[in-house]
Order: sequence, then C-alpha cells, then structure tokens
Amino acid sequence: GLVRIPYKISSQYNRTQLAVIRSAMATFTRHTCLRFVPRRTEVAYIFISNGKGCWAYVGKTGYSSQTVSLGIPGCVAKGIVLHEFMHVAGFQHEHSRSDRNRYVQILRQNIQGDMTMNFDLYNDTVNYVVYDYNSVMHYSKTAFSKQIYLPSIQVIPKRKPEPIIGQRERLSPYDIEEVKYLYDCGAGTYQRCGRDFFNLATGSFNSPSYPSPYPAEAHCTWNITVRPGRFVNVTFKGIDISDSPLCQNDVILIHDGKNAAAPTMRTVCGTQTGDISIVSTGRSMFIMFSSDPTRDSNRGFRAIFRESSWSRRYPQRQ
Ligand SMILES: [Zn+2]
Repeated sequence: GLVRIPYKISSQYNRTQLAVIRSAMATFTRHTCLRFVPRRTEVAYIFISNGKGCWAYVGKTGYSSQTVSLGIPGCVAKGIVLHEFMHVAGFQHEHSRSDRNRYVQILRQNIQGDMTMNFDLYNDTVNYVVYDYNSVMHYSKTAFSKQIYLPSIQVIPKRKPEPIIGQRERLSPYDIEEVKYLYDCGAGTYQRCGRDFFNLATGSFNSPSYPSPYPAEAHCTWNITVRPGRFVNVTFKGIDISDSPLCQNDVILIHDGKNAAAPTMRTVCGTQTGDISIVSTGRSMFIMFSSDPTRDSNRGFRAIFRESSWSRRYPQRQ
C-alpha cells in the first residue's frame, strides 16, 4: 500500500522554493508508493526547515518531529531535495554501501578534516541493485575536498569514459527501483509505465508515445516471464534515444531475471538502426526505460518478444 510521510514546511520558503520542494515530492508520488502528506495530528513527521546546509536523518528516527534541513537558497534545488528525501526514506549515501570499495576509492587525505564521516562505509546496507554511480545518493568526485579540483572520490578501476558521479538532477532508474523494492510498492501505488507479460508466447512493447518523442522523466518497466523451461527472446526494432557517455541520461537497461536486482545484460542508449536481439538465461527478463529531465526529440523504441525454447550465451556488457 501507500507509505505516508507527514511533513511540515517552515514559513520561510517563498512560492518558488515551495514549488521546488513540492516537485520533488511529486516525483516520489509518480514513481513510488511514498506519499508526502501535510501533517495533521501525526506525532512522527518531517519538518522541512531553513537550517545550516542540506541534510536529513536516515529513515524514521522515532515518534516526534525530525528535521530535514534545506538551507535557503543553496539547498532548494530539486535534485538536492530528492537526495534529502531519499535519506528520509531510509537510504544512506551510495558511496557508503558495504561493497563500495570495489567501485570507488575514497581519498581521505584530500577530504576536509571534519567531513570524513560522510565517507564512512556501512557494513549493513541492503544492496538490492548493482552499485549505481548514477544514484542521486552518490557524492561527486570533489565533494568536501580540501581544494576545489582535488578529488575526494576516485572511480575504480580507472577508465575512459569515467562514470559521472554526484548528479543532482533526478532519481536514477535504480534509485526508483530501490524505493519500490524497500517499500514493496504494489501495482496501482504509482503511475505505471510499462507492463508485465506472463506466460505469453509473444507480444510487443514500446517507449511511451512511440513513435512520437518520449516524455522527460519517464520510468517504465517491463517484466516478461514465459513458461518454465523457456527463455525470453526480445528484439528491439531500432532504438532512438538520446545518447550520453555510459548512458547516464536516457537509457534502456536489460536484466537477466525478473527484476532490477537480476544481472544486467545490456545498457543501451543512442541510435541503433538495426535490430538488437537478446535472449535471457532463465524464464524472465526485466527491462527498464528511463529518461532524464531534459526533453529530447528522440522517438524511443519498439520491441517484440517471443518465447524461445533455447537460450544462448550473450556478450557480457555493463
Ligand atoms: Zn546526503
């Protein structure tokens, strides 16, 4: 069902700032089962106030008011508000994940002395999905470093192009899926884009509005499950989505299983004129399509699937 988070907002925010905060709340309403509702008589609620800096407690702290500090004006930006609300929902920083040492190196010598605790590793994080450089909960490369261009976080292994870390534009596709997983958001608790196919021999699906351009901030999921012992063969009939290095903006993510926790088979963006065919190694495939807040003129994609009686190895690409 729905998860209600009562809130109170300080009277210090002007209309524009309130609109930014409400827009972040609306993102959770649209994509998850979390609902920020004005506090009436609830004992436990968040109090959004003009404190020093941008911060929030992680998860529900107890039976009282808990502060979400959104300092004016620096913290009243949608991506920052989304970040603080993710803390409220119970999420730590991405770079604090128990498995982070396989993905980033923390350069402690470059971090401002009193800020190192923001880079601590937590052994007890629930890592439902793959480590997500694109998470709104990840710090940037130079967060809290001693000098402006000095890195505090290095992506490992070093590579070109290097994933961008520290985006504060949107909930990443995996941020959304993690919230849905943690709160067990059922059908009907968010604006569904995509659908589930169960035991169908064949079918098709497409990006929203196809062949017209897809909207900004779309998040669609398709779970295709065929009969036991069979495999899912999906063919994308051409793809036209906005291109970006490592597909960190708009993206199609294909997972070899029934949800976002399954291994990633392919990450696709840009323009692909030919067909792209992918076969699962089990009876399910989970496909996500996500677009960032920038509206593009790209048309998206159409795909067909069919049940296949045999599988095949696929090139392992992340
Ligand atoms: Zn934070």
